[in-house]
Amino acid sequence: MPVGVTYSEGKDMEKRKKLLVVGGVAGGASCAARARRLSEDAEIIVFERGPYVSFANCGLPYHVGKIIPRERSLFLASPEMFKRRFNIDVRVNSNVRRIDRQIKALEVENLETGEVYEESYDFLVLSPGAAPIRPKLDGIDIPGIFTLRTIPDMREIKNWIETKTVKSAVIVGGGFVGLEMAENLKIRDIGVTLIEMEKQVMPVMDIELTAFIHDHLKAKDISLCLGSPVTGFKKNGDDTIDVRVASGRSVSADMVVLAIGVRPEVELAKGAGLTIGDLGGILVDDQLRTSDESIWAVGDAIEVENFITGAKSLVPLAGPANRQGRMAADVILGNGADPIRFRGVQGTAVCGVLGMTIAATGATEKYLKKIGSSVELEPFEKIYLHPDHHAGYYPGAKSITIKLIFSKESGRILGAQAVGMAGVEKRIDVIAMAIQKNGTVFDLEEAELCYAPQYGSAKDPVNMAGMIASNLLRGYSKIAHWEDLEKSDAFLLDVREPIEFKRTGHVDGAVNIPLGDLRSRMSELPRDREIWAYCLVGQRSYYALRVLMQHGFKVRNISGGFLMYQAVNQFK
Ligand code: FAD
Repeated sequence: MPVGVTYSEGKDMEKRKKLLVVGGVAGGASCAARARRLSEDAEIIVFERGPYVSFANCGLPYHVGKIIPRERSLFLASPEMFKRRFNIDVRVNSNVRRIDRQIKALEVENLETGEVYEESYDFLVLSPGAAPIRPKLDGIDIPGIFTLRTIPDMREIKNWIETKTVKSAVIVGGGFVGLEMAENLKIRDIGVTLIEMEKQVMPVMDIELTAFIHDHLKAKDISLCLGSPVTGFKKNGDDTIDVRVASGRSVSADMVVLAIGVRPEVELAKGAGLTIGDLGGILVDDQLRTSDESIWAVGDAIEVENFITGAKSLVPLAGPANRQGRMAADVILGNGADPIRFRGVQGTAVCGVLGMTIAATGATEKYLKKIGSSVELEPFEKIYLHPDHHAGYYPGAKSITIKLIFSKESGRILGAQAVGMAGVEKRIDVIAMAIQKNGTVFDLEEAELCYAPQYGSAKDPVNMAGMIASNLLRGYSKIAHWEDLEKSDAFLLDVREPIEFKRTGHVDGAVNIPLGDLRSRMSELPRDREIWAYCLVGQRSYYALRVLMQHGFKVRNISGGFLMYQAVNQFK
């Protein structure tokens, strides 16, 4: 029997509560550490199947790319540190095999010695995380095909790169981990092909925004193979691996990284008869309690309520896991001062790839359309804008493409996504907080944010998004979207300068009247048809709309301008 925690003398053993935690990384370690801060008396034991506790799984790709040069930087704590600093007993290499809810005990296997023992609990917190999906495809077990979740996984990848002098890699899956691995392999001068089943990378985002990511990846010499489900793998005589896709094409590489998503680890919970939700995660209430009143669950393994729609979701992110771990400890050992309720998850996330930042919070259009059949939703609208991340006159301004989704009725912000080379995550973080406070586009319009030329603009991109949306809701503006163009018989007006119209391309059938000539050439415009105006980004065409509206024309501004036309067209 492993040694338990030691107690200061004279404590009343009867009153001492015993908290067991399964999983010693994001949610589990947070929970245990917070529990100790709340109770000096509790006996706290953490079981971790792997050899390390509290390591930085989010940092793993960056050690592969040597951006984090020292592996030890990834170890945020050790069992010794937990013991010394927090008086917490962390048992690594300890697999929890079974929960006996009748007697309130765990069956634990010490993976080093093979010893199996029981440990009783008063309270149990499960934070077993989610495992990378490894589908049963032909050849999936060929050496050189990796997934990345743990320190040993990372070491295997690094070791393969270094011993096999890898020149080329295929990454399967274009989500967060796929893109981060693409970046880090590229940094090591490895040729990368990214294969993705969907027609877009970052499948959690709306497709049109990913056009900017695709352009960036191609410019950085990453080959994209989109809309291509992988069907199998074959080892070649020269030790390379052929990755076959549904079209029949195959891509050959020295190594493969599978990053096609994760699945909640629920076997332990299932075995104990805890309720599992329709999405395959452990069901918890708004205090993170499972269907057993002595057992809590947190992190990637649970189903959470979507903050926007209230629908159940799986959101495998470190922030929610950490906060939930802390909250479970509060519910179990806190002083009960506040009625603690988990607010749900809005999926605020960010990813960097070779200089580009991609970030999102709240609902996407795709998600709202999908969920709309099962959940009652307010009608929503979207806008696109491409403001500079700081004052345009200050050197180095880079544009951010932002999509904002909001209620047409109340202006409540439902979600935002952004891509760009600088200042992206700052805007999404501000909007994320506004969403948490059930803010509206009018709040964004009025938000008072930092400004000096090197940091932002007097009208920050967040203000601009709010202003564009508020103009719409107040009737100062009307918008149209490119995907509706084919269904409309609108007169298409391009208000850019003739040189832009000719050189950078234009939409077929558009009539070019530059903004500066509009007042003198109004007679060329129809009064019996709607006019849809556009420019490069949507700003000049908004000015044109204000002129034309006041002269009695029926006019709409095509949101996001010609840049969004090109983005939408990438998928036709
Ligand atoms: P985990 O942190 O995975 O911890 C679960 C632990 O439980 C595991 O170590 C497992 O070994 C252990 N365990 C499971 N079953 C048992 C058992 N029966 N007995 C004992 N132990 C058990 N999120 C972000 O928000 N931002 C990022 O940039 C980001 N980058 C990431 C990069 C990578 C490569 C990976 C893999 C994930 C990344 N994530 C990121 C996701 C984030 O790491 C997870 O959302 C978070 O770690 C989930 O915390 P958790 O406690 O639920 O699970």
